[in-house]
Amino acid sequence: MAAEQDYYKILGVERNASADDIKKAYRKFAMKYHPDRNPGDKNAEEMFKKGSEAYEVLSDPAKRQRYDQYGPDGVKFGAGGFDFDRDFTHGADLNDILSQFFGAMGGMGGGRRRGGGRSIFDMFTGGGAEEDPNGPEDGADLQYDLPISFEESIFGTTKTIEIPNEKDCPDCHGTGAAAGTRRETCKQCGGTGYVTTRQAFFQMRQPCPVCRGAGTIVKTPCRTCSGSGRLRDRAKIDLHVPAGVETGTRLRVAGHGQAGTRGGRPGDLHVVLHVRESDLFERQGDDLLVEAPVPPDVAALGGDVEVPTPEGTAKIRIAPGTPDGKLFRLRGKGAPLVNGRGAGDLIVRVAVEVPSHLNSRQRKALEDFQAAYEDRSYPQARAYRDRIAAFLKAKESLRK
Ligand SMILES: [Zn+2]
Ligand SMILES: [Zn+2]
Repeated sequence: MAAEQDYYKILGVERNASADDIKKAYRKFAMKYHPDRNPGDKNAEEMFKKGSEAYEVLSDPAKRQRYDQYGPDGVKFGAGGFDFDRDFTHGADLNDILSQFFGAMGGMGGGRRRGGGRSIFDMFTGGGAEEDPNGPEDGADLQYDLPISFEESIFGTTKTIEIPNEKDCPDCHGTGAAAGTRRETCKQCGGTGYVTTRQAFFQMRQPCPVCRGAGTIVKTPCRTCSGSGRLRDRAKIDLHVPAGVETGTRLRVAGHGQAGTRGGRPGDLHVVLHVRESDLFERQGDDLLVEAPVPPDVAALGGDVEVPTPEGTAKIRIAPGTPDGKLFRLRGKGAPLVNGRGAGDLIVRVAVEVPSHLNSRQRKALEDFQAAYEDRSYPQARAYRDRIAAFLKAKESLRK
């Protein structure tokens, strides 16, 4: 297999590389060869195409297996093959690629473009070509997974989170051109961002190979951002988490998604909450379940049992002869509703605890208790013995 056809070599990974390794290698690759970073560089364009093709295949377990078995032909032609030109459009935008690697965050959808058309995605799908390719481009929405404690979910809290982001370079205002210079109109396409070629009877419009569809090129790159027009940024956000949230609750922070490009609007940040389990309460919808251990004498004689509630503690009175597993419902003592209107219920499950480590007095008392045995104190045990007797009788009658 020729070196330029070897997807592993193109991305610079071993043949046994993990999915994560491949993702990381492609990220590095995209940072280096993406057309947005190499305006007018033909070689970089070719490399980026090859690398994207390699990633399309190696990131898909089924395609990777076919590729390992049959080489490039195995993933390009025949049954079960795929159409590279179509697949190439996925994730080809540098911002989309980068947003996949923001730690816990994943990109959510593509950027909403306003007068965009800069990205390869738009170029191949034909969208946006009539719009100004150097106009503002809105940032994509981002997702952030935030773990919180059970207590924070019940009482609410404020969390400070840090979002890795990008912003327009302040020195060149996102154009990538050094101060005192400006992006120059691309001579190849006359600034339209696309070229028209004739093949037989067809006229085909393709992105301009020189400016990659931007319509302009940077002659003197801005030194602050090396001509990319973008700088890394970290945004600190104080996030208010209302009382009563649960795992899966989404909080939208408008305007804190990916920053816009060249003055475009930022996307939104969607914070998805993950509540760590409590070792005291179990949440069931808006209800909270708590298991209260009860000594057998209290279960038998009746008495008060202390239970925790979101407000503090409460006492429930249990009747003499309360069985193990009996449920008590305390209305309005469960999880608060996020809208602030009331709360779920607290459900207490009685768990009769058999005593261990008896002292001599307890042992004596229990021996006296045992000596005073009466069948009618244990209806379940009596029914159990009756069922055993019935079973043995049935067995006996079948033997005859
Ligand atoms: Zn700059
Ligand atoms: Zn051009």
